[in-house]
Amino acid sequence: MGERGSGKALVMSKRDLGAFVRHLAASYTLLAPIDEGGVTRFAAAGADDIRGSGDLESAPALSKRPLKEIFFPQEEVLFTFDAGGKVEVAASAAPVDEVTRVAFGVRPCDARSLTLLDLVFDAADYKDPYYVSRRRSTAVVTFACPEPGVACFCTSVGGGPYDETGSDLMFAEAGEAYLVRPLSAKGEGLLRGFDAVREAGDADLAAAREAEAKAATRVAGNVPVDAAVSKLAGAFGDAAWDDVHRKCLGCAVCTYLCPTCHCFDIGDEATRAGGERVRNWDSCMFPLFTLHASGHNPRPSRKERFRQRIMHKFNYFVENNGRVACVGCGRCVENCPVNLDVRKVLEAFAAL
Ligand code: SF4
Ligand code: SF4
Repeated sequence: MGERGSGKALVMSKRDLGAFVRHLAASYTLLAPIDEGGVTRFAAAGADDIRGSGDLESAPALSKRPLKEIFFPQEEVLFTFDAGGKVEVAASAAPVDEVTRVAFGVRPCDARSLTLLDLVFDAADYKDPYYVSRRRSTAVVTFACPEPGVACFCTSVGGGPYDETGSDLMFAEAGEAYLVRPLSAKGEGLLRGFDAVREAGDADLAAAREAEAKAATRVAGNVPVDAAVSKLAGAFGDAAWDDVHRKCLGCAVCTYLCPTCHCFDIGDEATRAGGERVRNWDSCMFPLFTLHASGHNPRPSRKERFRQRIMHKFNYFVENNGRVACVGCGRCVENCPVNLDVRKVLEAFAAL
């Protein structure tokens, strides 16, 4: 983390991390990676649920399910209605102006992903009230990654194991302690009333810099994202798609687990008496995603659907927002059942 960031660097002993979690849990709803049947996901947690105790000394690993679901849930009721015409909008859409939740144990790629979702759900010309309320009411506490995973390629998409983008409070290893940097007013607020921190000295900053330098060397080699992005602009009809998609099963695991994928479907679940309007995650990898009422499907095979996923992330999103819609978390690499590796796909297009 070095001297970057807007906030003053503080130091917290690793032994005090459990006490800090309890301090947070006393005032906020804590959301942290919880093991559910062998799958980790961000969900409401008690202080003792986080790695089981108050003697917590290290942060949870990257969760299997992405952080996005505490802002953009897999399914949610938008409003209910009845036959008499009464409509009740879900309380989650109500505007908020205070921090009531803390996402604790976030990794930098997931924190960064929020700033991409903001471009979709909290844009100047469209604001999704459900998402915006959850974002405004949530502070993000991130832990830098001293040991990035084998599938991580965050440094190839503008991030890094110590990237501060999207975080409100950042923890980074500094020997036996953490360097703690508040990066926003939300982050400053979380430290209020917690006294077991002191200002960082030169030795703390040097230890943190050493850990950061080691982490940087552990992220997998450069994926040629920029070269792929420039080639993809003219590659819609390229024969390379015939090859790169071939293994794909169309299972959509890559999109559901992706922290930046944000497509959804909206449907009504109703009886004669009333019902509810529900939003669910959807995926461009499914044939129904683009099936027209006429029966025509403009993306009739897995090839077109796979192309859509790659083009949206590395071409259309770039054209619309100036950034790739990928944070290099590696979830799609690690969880694809046929090992269809997005890094290899980008290499193939970069080499055209
Ligand atoms: S996870 Fe793999 S097989 Fe499944 S849709 Fe994605 S690329 Fe295809
Ligand atoms: S495309 Fe893959 S590596 Fe990139 S953010 Fe999504 S899941 Fe992570």
